[in-house]
Amino acid sequence: NLESIKSPQGYEARTPPYAKLLKNLSQVKRVLNNQPLTYAEKILYSHLVNPDELASNIKDIRGVQYLKLNPDRVAMQDASAQMALLQFITCGMASTAVPASIHCDHLIVGKNGAEEDLASSIATNKEVFEFLKSCGEKFGIQFWGPGSGIIHQIVLENFSVPGLMMLGTDSHTPNAGGLGAIAIGVGGADAVDALTGTPWELKAPKILGVKLTGKMSGWTSPKDVITHLTGKLTVRGGTGYIVEYFGEGVQTLSCTGMATICNMGAEIGATTSTFPMQEAHYQYLAATNRGPIGELAKSVNDNFGFLKADEGAQYDEVIEIDLNTLEPSVNGPFTPDLSTKISELKDTTKKNNWPEQISAGLIGSCTNSSYQDMTRAVSIMQQAEAAGLKPKIPFFVTPGSEQIRATMERDGLIEVFEKNDAIVLANACGPCIGQWDRGANAPKDDNVIFTSFNRNFKARNDGNRKTMNFLTSPDIVTAMIYSGEMNFNPLKDSIDIGDGKSFKFNPPHGEDLPSSGFIRGREEFYPELEPKPKPEVEISVSPESDRLELLEPFKPWNGKELETTVILKVEGKCTTDHISAAGVWLKYKGHLSNISNNTLIGAVNKETGEVNTVYDLDGAKFSIPDLMMKWKDESRPWIVVAEHNYGEGSAREHAALQPRFLGGQIILTKSFARIHETNLKKQGMLPLTFANEADYDKLSTGDVLSTLNLKDMVEKNGDNGGIIKMQVTKKNGETFVIDCKHTMSLDQVAFFKAGSAINFIGESKK
Ligand code: SF4
Repeated sequence: NLESIKSPQGYEARTPPYAKLLKNLSQVKRVLNNQPLTYAEKILYSHLVNPDELASNIKDIRGVQYLKLNPDRVAMQDASAQMALLQFITCGMASTAVPASIHCDHLIVGKNGAEEDLASSIATNKEVFEFLKSCGEKFGIQFWGPGSGIIHQIVLENFSVPGLMMLGTDSHTPNAGGLGAIAIGVGGADAVDALTGTPWELKAPKILGVKLTGKMSGWTSPKDVITHLTGKLTVRGGTGYIVEYFGEGVQTLSCTGMATICNMGAEIGATTSTFPMQEAHYQYLAATNRGPIGELAKSVNDNFGFLKADEGAQYDEVIEIDLNTLEPSVNGPFTPDLSTKISELKDTTKKNNWPEQISAGLIGSCTNSSYQDMTRAVSIMQQAEAAGLKPKIPFFVTPGSEQIRATMERDGLIEVFEKNDAIVLANACGPCIGQWDRGANAPKDDNVIFTSFNRNFKARNDGNRKTMNFLTSPDIVTAMIYSGEMNFNPLKDSIDIGDGKSFKFNPPHGEDLPSSGFIRGREEFYPELEPKPKPEVEISVSPESDRLELLEPFKPWNGKELETTVILKVEGKCTTDHISAAGVWLKYKGHLSNISNNTLIGAVNKETGEVNTVYDLDGAKFSIPDLMMKWKDESRPWIVVAEHNYGEGSAREHAALQPRFLGGQIILTKSFARIHETNLKKQGMLPLTFANEADYDKLSTGDVLSTLNLKDMVEKNGDNGGIIKMQVTKKNGETFVIDCKHTMSLDQVAFFKAGSAINFIGESKK
């Protein structure tokens, strides 16, 4: 009886609308004639705006059909929230259509320790934090201020629930899948869809099943599941898939361990990752003061089988991982899919000529700051301390939230860290996102760091492109700081402690959850749970500000074919960090004109091998953003040509907004990362891929590329066979035609015509 399913009192905004979802799912089942569904599909399809629009066979849905969905919730981090909210403001609504939260975490620098760093970061970013806070008050969005914690940890502790579907303006939003949610990282314009109650569109992902067997022991931890999988699948291997974990090995994992695995699923390009409901979820919900939601989820699962895969559900592909034999691995440098087993690290280091000394160790972040992670790290530190060892290199700990920090403090974990020379940083992103001030002695040359973070593109941590970040479990990072050397394998090797004695670590041990429960810590970090909108609140953005700038709508399409000039031919990897760098640029996230000065400054010019260097038609040398601005002023629309997985990495919509702002019209690549391709479409750009990859070699900067059948594609609402023909005119006058593929849906064509998705939504809300 669906009528009897009611949100527990006081938990309404945090409980998925189970009755409505079940009703939707029964319609889905009817349309599909009861074909069995995976867990991910049950959650996703139960959020369909209209289940009757679903194709009647799974084969015609997965990887084929565009779904229109109603997410339950939105979370935004401070760097991306600025642009998301600036776009939301242009829609003129009084409040958000779904519960939402803002998290101040990315703008906080890590240097000397939590208290000092937090105070100086609040002072530096005052204007932005005040803007976000006033948006929160005006529109009824929860505001988690600086120091309260990292978006994904707070979501896990407060909002994630089996069956929930949420969007987050951050690529590691899938972290919430560790607690059974379908949580998808998106750009701000997608978030605005959900915030305005506009159906959010997603091409139905295929489903990759990862079967876990056995049980981990010793040094192996959940991080090793995902570093192993990333090594196996590469950074493109999950594109277009939801990763769903199943098998008896799942039952041996903690909820936070599952979150670590889902978190770093972003590194294989997956749409998201998730686990069906487990006993560990139920326990974690109870431990995080959401016992009644856990009870309801359990009863919904027991009575309707909602929160698990159907018997006989088929995955598009299955990968099996035996947890019994899984070995810790170390992934990097510069790409998360370069995976080396710890037992092979010594030889691989030698072979690649990597530096043998490690310069720093960092643990925590949204990926690995659970109670389990921290207690295991402390168990390693205590062994070293008992043997009289001190860390040989600087060591930093980033707690994911005030709740985890306060609980660590109560249970003596912080004391152990600090007694052993660790610096405990603020509950924020800090070194994970380039906000790491290494002080006057920061290495300038090649240097190795070990982190328990999730991402390791060049310059990601300290802004130094030569810093080689190796990603691994907090256990391995903590052990490595006592040797400071790449050739140390803590599972096997000993450390000399003098007097002819040596010391060898025992495997770490930890607790999944604190036996005395979590404590909240400082109350000032907790916002009102269900804030009401206050229309009287004024949001002011000073025209003199260099941090915030109100948005001017992009111009609608003029109805003509596009004629564009190749401004840059990019060589190799081009992530969102290359397209819109973080680090010092984070401060301009709310100011489109200023942040556009970093556009593609990390990109390598295929023709010259130079970084951030392009040449005008007369041969004059420019930085990439400067030439883009010059061509914009000259009304010369441009196109960028690039290679595979362009825009891989984060959900950073600035990587799409900036090219559009600077006069770009088309990005033509060998392939795109999913979020970035969508972001480009949302900003009114045309993302295309080569039908024949070899055509990449035929193009040069200065070539003029003109579409031949864009109007036809638009008239047919994207349904023109998926090809845009482009005439190429070389500088010597030679011409030829190439075929390019597009994936524009009906809605995306509407965005293109309107100039952007926001223009389109704004019009429809009037
Ligand atoms: Fe913050 Fe790093 Fe997590 Fe991103 S991956 S949310 S930057 S801690």
